[in-house]
Amino acid sequence: MWAYWQSVPAHWRELPARYRLEGGRCKDCGHKTLPEERVCPVCGSKNIERVALPRRGKVINYSVIWNAPRGYEYYTPYVVALIELEDGTRIFSQLTDVHPEEVKEGMEVEMVIRKTRVSGESGLIAYSYKFRPVLG
Ligand SMILES: [Zn+2]
Repeated sequence: MWAYWQSVPAHWRELPARYRLEGGRCKDCGHKTLPEERVCPVCGSKNIERVALPRRGKVINYSVIWNAPRGYEYYTPYVVALIELEDGTRIFSQLTDVHPEEVKEGMEVEMVIRKTRVSGESGLIAYSYKFRPVLG
């Protein structure tokens, strides 16, 4: 088990529905973040540009979530992974199209756009990215 999974739902809430994987890139030190940060967490620069990130990566570490926050119950159990993209950027994402017991460290994954949340009262549906095992 790794220590960061508790903060992941907060990241999800901040994600706008978008169909490209875009993050921030610090123009001063090159550090990339997802979601995009206004201030670089590495050097403190505010000189941030928006960049498209690779859609493929590999699983560095993962955690199976059995108790989902409100709005995500439907998906339990699910897997949240720390993924290293092809450019070296590390992000958190939920995995999809895979059973928790099939997830392995080093597994190749690719981004897909999926429905992430249904609000009971308003009926709102949000779309965001998830990662799934690379097919073939
Ligand atoms: Zn920086």
